[in-house]
Amino acid sequence: MNIPISENPRVVIVGGGFAGISLAKHLLKEKLQVVLLDRNNYHTFQPLLYQVSTSGLEPDSIAYPLRKITRHSKDGYFRLAEVQQIVPEENLIKTSIGDLTYDYLVLATGSKTNFFGNESIEEHGMWMKTIPQALNIRSLILENLEQAVITEDPVKRKALLNFVVAGAGPTGVELCGAIAEVRNHIVPRDFRDLDTNEIQIHLIEGLDRVLPPMSEKASEKAYKFLKELGVEIHLNTMVQEYNGETVTTNKEGLNFKTATFIWAAGVAGAPVEGLNASAVVDKADRYEVNVFNQVTGYENIFAIGDIALMRNEKYPKGHPMVAQPAIQQGRNLAKNIKRLLKKEELVPFEYNDKGTMATVGRNKAVVDLGKMRFGGFFAWFLWMFIHLYFLVGFRNRIVTFFNWIYNYVNYDKASRLIIRPFKSNKKNLEVDQKKV
Ligand SMILES: Cc1cc2nc3c(=O)[nH]c(=O)nc-3n(C[C@H](O)[C@H](O)[C@H](O)COP(=O)(O)OP(=O)(O)OC[C@H]3O[C@@H](n4cnc5c(N)ncnc54)[C@H](O)[C@@H]3O)c2cc1C
Repeated sequence: MNIPISENPRVVIVGGGFAGISLAKHLLKEKLQVVLLDRNNYHTFQPLLYQVSTSGLEPDSIAYPLRKITRHSKDGYFRLAEVQQIVPEENLIKTSIGDLTYDYLVLATGSKTNFFGNESIEEHGMWMKTIPQALNIRSLILENLEQAVITEDPVKRKALLNFVVAGAGPTGVELCGAIAEVRNHIVPRDFRDLDTNEIQIHLIEGLDRVLPPMSEKASEKAYKFLKELGVEIHLNTMVQEYNGETVTTNKEGLNFKTATFIWAAGVAGAPVEGLNASAVVDKADRYEVNVFNQVTGYENIFAIGDIALMRNEKYPKGHPMVAQPAIQQGRNLAKNIKRLLKKEELVPFEYNDKGTMATVGRNKAVVDLGKMRFGGFFAWFLWMFIHLYFLVGFRNRIVTFFNWIYNYVNYDKASRLIIRPFKSNKKNLEVDQKKV
């Protein structure tokens, strides 16, 4: 791996997501050797993936080169590597580019899409955890519109113009809102030979409201916003199968012929092989950790972010799998690793919940902030400000800000390009999507 032996203890961080880079940034200033590993050479700002898949943003503006994080540190290294196995007895990890020993190992591998064992959805559906996947959705949506223009068969055209999303959490809601904006503002100008009334967007949710993790007020407002945009919402409905042509639900007669089915209904942890069975919690596939983010049964192995399951009275199922717990756990673990070196007492992690928000479309968002719940233009403005603030990299903030202004003023989405045709990429897509 070409990592020199150092007089400083070696901390290996697996994963350059929110948790991994929050930790790395704080540790790189210390007397430590920090090795950051990721299977991509960039950090992905996942909350804006849906804008890439609906042509609102270019992929580069939500990605950040991981080498930029370590470049100013004398004893900090980044390596592009897939971590395949942990050998805790030898304090060693096995990766796609070789083996590496560690003094402290931090697992920040995030999560993967959870299909709950439904093979038909995994085989035929689309989902969105990475930039390549978002680009594939973008290509698929645009290709289907192109196909619909030239299709004479009305049944086939209907399937091409039916967009079905499963899961009305923030991802599903934001995706449907953005597809609705494509239909309402882009299609009438770009595809004048298509009847926009033929385009249907269906959002399917198993529970009795949209945005289940948020307050009831936020759910009601988001429901109203989606309806205003023309999204058809099917609550208390479970997807049973997607065979590549038809989505079948548990409700009799409620099936959809569609060429675009997007699964946004579940995530589970993405653990690496090698730790004791007691360290990984079955259904969630997350590492069980104590209040210091130490993985059960190990003193020098930690897990932070989505992959860490820290259960307590307030969060019996662990913290929500969102960016803030990941960032805050990274920061707290940095403090604790420094304390470990000084043989000081460790500080338990306490989550500071800064609120939840989701945007539904232009001028439409909902926010739960402590006891305050509000929606509409101000919420949308706040949503934009917060996302710009947390977007990694100054260049990305500037590019995204100007893109949003351009889109807002012109009712436009500048990146509606089929750069990587969905069809010819199908094989790569399958390999890529199996991993995450
Ligand atoms: C579509 C979508 C929308 C979202 N919207 C929001 C939102 O609006 N607000 C919010 O707060 N949260 C949102 N989230 C959730 C948020 O993005 C995650 O909670 C957050 O990214 C978790 O950070 P993490 O560092 O734990 O993992 P990640 O950010 O997922 O990072 C994990 C990293 O580990 C790397 N990795 C994984 N396995 C390996 C391996 N074996 N070897 C090498 N590298 C590996 C991956 O490449 C990745 O870079 C969204 C997530 C998605 C998918």
